[in-house]
Formats: sequence, C-alpha cells, structure tokens
Amino acid sequence: MSKRFFTLFLTIFLSCLLCGGLFAARNVMTCDWCGKKISSNASFLKSEDKNFCSEKCFNAFAESLLPVCDVCGKRFKEGFTSDGKNFCSKACLETSFRECFHCHRREPKGVIVGNNLFLCEYCKELPACASCQMPLDRFAKDLGDGRSLCRDCARDGIFEQPEMDSVMKDLRKTLADKFRMSTDHEIKYQLCDRTALKKESTGDGEHELGLFIFNIHTLTFFNRPVRSREEFRILILNGLPPDFFRGVGVHELAHDWMQQNLPHIDEPMIREGFAEFVSWAYAKSEKLDRVPWRMEQNTDPVYGDGFRKVRDMMGDARTASEWKKILLKAYPAPAKEKEAE
Ligand SMILES: [Zn+2]
Ligand SMILES: [Zn+2]
Ligand SMILES: [Zn+2]
Ligand SMILES: [Zn+2]
Ligand SMILES: [Zn+2]
Repeated sequence: MSKRFFTLFLTIFLSCLLCGGLFAARNVMTCDWCGKKISSNASFLKSEDKNFCSEKCFNAFAESLLPVCDVCGKRFKEGFTSDGKNFCSKACLETSFRECFHCHRREPKGVIVGNNLFLCEYCKELPACASCQMPLDRFAKDLGDGRSLCRDCARDGIFEQPEMDSVMKDLRKTLADKFRMSTDHEIKYQLCDRTALKKESTGDGEHELGLFIFNIHTLTFFNRPVRSREEFRILILNGLPPDFFRGVGVHELAHDWMQQNLPHIDEPMIREGFAEFVSWAYAKSEKLDRVPWRMEQNTDPVYGDGFRKVRDMMGDARTASEWKKILLKAYPAPAKEKEAE
C-alpha cells in the first residue's frame, strides 16, 4: 500500500499531558475522572487544568481522548485517516477499499468496467478484452486484427453474417414499433474485423465499433447525370456480445434515420449524441443494463457529452417524430429544404 494516499498520524499528546507531573495536593480537590475527593496531603497527577487521583484515572482520561476507529470501534494511538475517516490498522483501512473483481485484492485506486465492476490499478494495465474490457487470461482468443476477446465474449460474440442480418432486421422492426422510427430503403449489412472497418472509416477507426455509410452513385451520360443510386451500408465489428452488438446496431440505424430525416445537421456532437441517445432509449426499454450505463459514464466529448446534451433536449419525448420536431427547432433546416417539405 502506498503512503501517498493516507496520512499516518501518531498520537503524541500523551507525553504532553504528562508534562504537568506529580504534585502534592494543597486544597481540597476532586479527581476530574472518577470524581473522588483528593485529600490535602495526597500526591496526585495534574495535566493542564485537570487533576487526577491516580495514574489509573489519568490513563483512562488520556485514552478517552484517542480517536475511534470507524471500522472496529477501537481507540488507537497510531493509525490512518482517509476521506475524513479514522482507521486503527491496515486491515481496518482496507475495508474501505473496493475489492478488485479480478485479483480480489482490496485496493484504493482503480477503474470501473463492465457493469459497475471495480478493477484495481494493477489489473487495469493487463491486456484487456476488446469487447468487455475485462483482463484477459490464457483462454483469450486472438482475432488477428489487434483485438483479443475474453473467453465469454469469444463464446457469445456475433461472428456470422446471417446472424448479423437477422439481428439487424429485428432491430429495425423493434425501432419502428417502439419509437415509430423507420426508413424503407434497403441497407446492406457487413460484419467485419477492425482492419476492414478502419479502411472505410473517416476517423481513426481505433475506437469505432460500427459505421453507417451513405453514398450516392451517379451515372452520367455525356457529363449529364442520368440516374443516381443511393447506397446505405452498416458495418459492425465482429465478436461483440449480443447486447453490445444490439446497442451498436441501433446507434447505426439512428444514423440512417437521421440521414433521411435531418440530413442538414452535421455537427458531430449532435449526430453521434442522437445516435447514442436512441441506443440508450432502446437499451433502457429492453433492460440491457450494461449499455445505458456505458453511455451515461462515457467521458468522450463527442459521444458522451453529445449523448447527455441530446438526452436533456428530448425530455419526455418518446417517438421519432417528436425527436425530429425538437431537433428541427434547435437546428432549423436551411430555407431550400423547408420549401420542399
Ligand atoms: Zn480518580
Ligand atoms: Zn479498527
Ligand atoms: Zn486487481
Ligand atoms: Zn470480454
Ligand atoms: Zn455514430
């Protein structure tokens, strides 16, 4: 344990108290601890403005001034303070720490991962699962694209394209039922590894779990556009556990809806914030506890702050048309698009 985090205090007032020394009683006095009279010629102990008939009474008084351990209730001379609490021993101090779910040591510092699990500062440096952030053990699966998965994520993760297709189809229907949020064009789904996702990403691709891609392909004839075709694609990383995958899937479908309904909003914080908000609303309604928790705790200035901003804007609104109204009021469409409406 590092001394950095705590102040060790030594109780030194015992010696100060004793400096009063032994006196002979001259007048009639009473013991400040037991209340007995101290006869005129008896020797007694004096400490500052207090008198004691015996060493026993003096010791009892001195002990009453010692701090009390907030854990075991014992009084102590040497101990620790942390967060304004007193601890008589290292064992009592450690009860105030959280237990690391991985190494089971109680440690003062660490991070929270997964569903409110405490990971100590030593274990957080270990290689971690790319999906759940848990430290990896020898059962880890190397995906060959810089990611490794823990045994649970590797077992439960989505790795097959038909599984992605059916989950996405289900999510689209669920969003239409729950929030009246739907688009009717065809979307191509691609389950991919990190290398493929990075290739298509406009960002660094390092932390992205999915991508929504919208393209317009225009056919020209003698430099004149004759026909254009819109392409909608959603890429999601393979190996994500199903709950997590659904959270990402809804996020990307929200981008798809926004592309159709509010294409003029290009502020990344609002685009990502809205996609996170829809994913959060979905996860909450499905009771996928890990997903909303992750968003609420996200400190990212685009995703985390954007999510909180959009959530606060939306208040009690629970349908896509209400969300659209609120966003249009805050971010009005340019005049040209308004006429077309
Ligand atoms: Zn006494
Ligand atoms: Zn104690
Ligand atoms: Zn640990
Ligand atoms: Zn994992
Ligand atoms: Zn996004």
